[in-house]
Amino acid sequence: MEAKEWKEKLLTNKKNGYDLMPAEEREAMDRYCQGYKAFLDAGKTERECVQEGIRLAEEKGFRPYVRGMELKSGDKVYLDNRGKMLMLAVIGQKSLAEGAQITAAHIDSPRLDLKPSPLYEESEMAYLKTHYYGGIRKYQWVTIPLELRGIVALKDGKTVKVAIGEGDEPKLVINDLLPHLGREQSKKTLAEGIGGEQLNLLVGTEPLAGEEKDRVKLAVMKLLYEHYGIREADFISAEIEAVPAFNAVDIGFDRTLIGAYGQDDRVCGYAAFKALLDLEGVPCRTAVCVLADKEEIGSEGVSGMQSAFFETFVGDLCATQKVPLRVCLEKSFCLSADVTAAFDPQFADVYEKRNSAYVNYGIGLCKYTGARGKSGASDAGAEAVAYVRRLLDDKGVLWQMAELGATDKGGGGTVACYMANRNIDTLDAGVPVLSMHAPFEVTSKLDCYMTYAACKAVYEG
Ligand code: MN
Ligand code: MN
Repeated sequence: MEAKEWKEKLLTNKKNGYDLMPAEEREAMDRYCQGYKAFLDAGKTERECVQEGIRLAEEKGFRPYVRGMELKSGDKVYLDNRGKMLMLAVIGQKSLAEGAQITAAHIDSPRLDLKPSPLYEESEMAYLKTHYYGGIRKYQWVTIPLELRGIVALKDGKTVKVAIGEGDEPKLVINDLLPHLGREQSKKTLAEGIGGEQLNLLVGTEPLAGEEKDRVKLAVMKLLYEHYGIREADFISAEIEAVPAFNAVDIGFDRTLIGAYGQDDRVCGYAAFKALLDLEGVPCRTAVCVLADKEEIGSEGVSGMQSAFFETFVGDLCATQKVPLRVCLEKSFCLSADVTAAFDPQFADVYEKRNSAYVNYGIGLCKYTGARGKSGASDAGAEAVAYVRRLLDDKGVLWQMAELGATDKGGGGTVACYMANRNIDTLDAGVPVLSMHAPFEVTSKLDCYMTYAACKAVYEG
């Protein structure tokens, strides 16, 4: 054989997804991405993602799961964990003793949470203090329009939904120093340029008539009282998030990319969710989709992936078939669907270009994440990776291998370790993202669509 033939026979031949994707899939890809962008606009917080998820799932025949209810093959159920985490299942043909096909993604994203006592006045301007949630680069969150979304839980048990900044509504902003005065600030590192206690939202300037102190703060509180019926003390039991006040848009002259807030990890969350909704017929094994909260701060807490809510729901499903949970879990497979870093030629030195994910090359499979020698990674077994290679190749899903940055440079974690710790074979996979954790992240439509196709392949088993 000639070298050319040996090369074709032996070596990996990576190709741009646009050279491989059949033309007829273009339309399906564009339609999918329209739905994804609409989901992002409706779901700028984990609570909103759960609400929108339930609305879409019910349209497709999913019913709320009630403990003890009879379930048969083909039944579609969901369970809402405190409005912040959502699990959905389609009961398969086989018993849960044969395991479940799981995808787990997270729907919380980096943002600025209001502090428990946020409102104050300084120099006759009113501000709200924030405490950032997740790994943000603070300088990216100043001088962009922000909006508030969340809830206030009142002492009487009622909750008030807060949403300020949609459409024509006023926006909020965090100021930065002007270049004319920022000479000293400009000498600081990116990490030091803006401090955590400077992330204060400017929310008003008109004082209430009278002689009282802090009349601007009072005027703002009066507006909030008139609109929402809340008092200053009610902020103590509130979860209000400041998020970017812009919607998802196409990026590039060729519209091949999506720019939006919160794509980590709603891009995989939506893929995992939509693939379950779009399942045709009854899957062989039970298909389970997990949309978890709190990943960005370690998956702790009652709505995080470490919560026993997962065992409770899957255990309840198993109980309907008299299957011990541990028997189900040891036979299950989980795709931990979370974003990875897309190679960025402008910052090439933090990537290892031979093991990096590339825009438009499909879903990125990560055998391991972690940092400093894979620490914190679940490091999937070779057999689990081979299983997914076969699954995706059989279904014509475009995929690539991915590493989260060069050794000693990058790193990060996902929910994979918490699934693997439950004795479930788990592999990380997700959409490569540019500017991850920025208020405006960029993904490729082709990669988004291939991640949806990969989740579908996992459910179909
Ligand atoms: Mn993530
Ligand atoms: Mn993240």
